[in-house]
Amino acid sequence: MDKTIVEELSKIVGEEYISTRRDVLLAYSTSASMSYDTVMPSAVVRPGTTEEVSRVLKVANKYKIPVTPRSGGSSLQGEVIPEADSLVVELLRLDDIVLYKDLRSVTVGAGVTFGALDKYLNEHDLWVPFYPGSSLVATYAGNVAVNGAGFGSGVFGCIAELVMGLEVVLPDGTIIQTGSEANPNSPGPFLRYAFGPDLTGLFIGSLGSFGIITKVSLKTHKRMRFFDYNTYGFDEVENAERFLLELKENEINAIWMALYEGSILDFFLDMVGEEYGVPEYDWPKFTVSVAIGRVRIDQLKSDMRAAKSVCEQLGGHVIGIKELPKNEWEDRMRELARSSYVHGWHWRILYHHQTPINWHKSVESLWSVMDEYGVLGHTAGFQSGHASYNLYPQLYFDPQDKEEEMKVKEAHRDLCHRLFKTGAVPFKLARYWVDGISEMDSYLQFLNEMKRNVDSNEILNPGILPKPKGGEN
Ligand SMILES: Cc1cc2nc3c(=O)[nH]c(=O)nc-3n(C[C@H](O)[C@H](O)[C@H](O)COP(=O)(O)OP(=O)(O)OC[C@H]3O[C@@H](n4cnc5c(N)ncnc54)[C@H](O)[C@@H]3O)c2cc1C
Repeated sequence: MDKTIVEELSKIVGEEYISTRRDVLLAYSTSASMSYDTVMPSAVVRPGTTEEVSRVLKVANKYKIPVTPRSGGSSLQGEVIPEADSLVVELLRLDDIVLYKDLRSVTVGAGVTFGALDKYLNEHDLWVPFYPGSSLVATYAGNVAVNGAGFGSGVFGCIAELVMGLEVVLPDGTIIQTGSEANPNSPGPFLRYAFGPDLTGLFIGSLGSFGIITKVSLKTHKRMRFFDYNTYGFDEVENAERFLLELKENEINAIWMALYEGSILDFFLDMVGEEYGVPEYDWPKFTVSVAIGRVRIDQLKSDMRAAKSVCEQLGGHVIGIKELPKNEWEDRMRELARSSYVHGWHWRILYHHQTPINWHKSVESLWSVMDEYGVLGHTAGFQSGHASYNLYPQLYFDPQDKEEEMKVKEAHRDLCHRLFKTGAVPFKLARYWVDGISEMDSYLQFLNEMKRNVDSNEILNPGILPKPKGGEN
């Protein structure tokens, strides 16, 4: 990067918060994503305030430098890998937390991780009941940018459902606030859908392509202290899927529910079963692992009775093994890490949402791709909202074996297209998913037009937005 630009940026953030050193840049050339090539940026800045972020973006705009916003760097699908010769804006120094007890909300800076906020709210008997499996390093802002799903989504939905408003720096450096806080006289975040169209939504799942989120206001809830953990067995997939739906229909507060095929459960427990203390068991064809959480014990008891009854009406049986859902829930801030990394594998992942009763379509798509390409994989997932189920198929490869890696990349692309045909959706912009799919053309044209309006020099995460078929728009 040109020396004069570095000096200009350095005047904004201070000398110690800018670097062009190769070893530092190397750390920012990658993320938790595997099977994505690393790309070296030219510089990294670490602003400490929203105003500094704004001034940095003005400089980037003046010189038309591509910018990649970065928070925890824990995303898994290459989202935070920068452009060559670009500027990384790392936001971890924005770490304020402001609690609005009477408004049932909290505002966090872009650098606040799930783990840090949970520790803070626990002391107030509160929580934001949503946790990605990367909670100890992932930030709320980064998760909003990918509209993540996680533990707690079974009742509370994706992170989007918990967001009350955002402070965002637009690509030209303008600072805006959405939600009730757009009125500077408001006592704080108490309503997202204020002042007309939901501008908050423009930034959720946008992968930082419309602006840099500097603050996130979130709903808080009284912390649940009463839990029931159980496993339920079914011989038919239709009944297991219907069970997921019926738990919701009966307003049973299942904050975690995951459906496993017997063979996949064996595979999963081979990795974590001993540590979780799950007893050896001849698992049925389909097992649903459920954690029910409630604020009051009477509510919990009623839910437990109802869950048993729904299961039996569908021809299932209560297995009674608690260790699996209990450990999944209690280990919620790092659960995926334990299972997926345990053997040191590399993999490509394909987060997506299906409806609960189409769970089998994702599983069948994965099995067919594995068979046809001769690659290893598995999928797990969990209820992620009102009528959605999040799955995260993973295709494994040996990083030393380039041929296998290429095969997995091709299988991954093919799997995206097959999942799209089943009606599944990603939870973020996901270029790899919809690029070149003509059925989405008018939607993508509109999206790209909005991007041009907000970011005329295309500096923010350029290239991350899916393009209409043929790349023209
Ligand atoms: C072990 C493991 C388990 C995981 N489990 C889950 C899970 O259960 N659920 C889930 O949803 N995800 C999961 N993930 C993926 C990832 O951790 C989350 O999506 C996480 O929330 C990303 O946040 P981050 O702060 O790390 O963002 P980053 O990786 O830093 O960035 C993610 C994207 O957001 C953009 N971005 C970052 N900060 C900002 C900002 N302030 N403003 C605008 N754009 C920004 C980046 O440019 C990038 O496109 C997991 C990852 C790992 C490694």
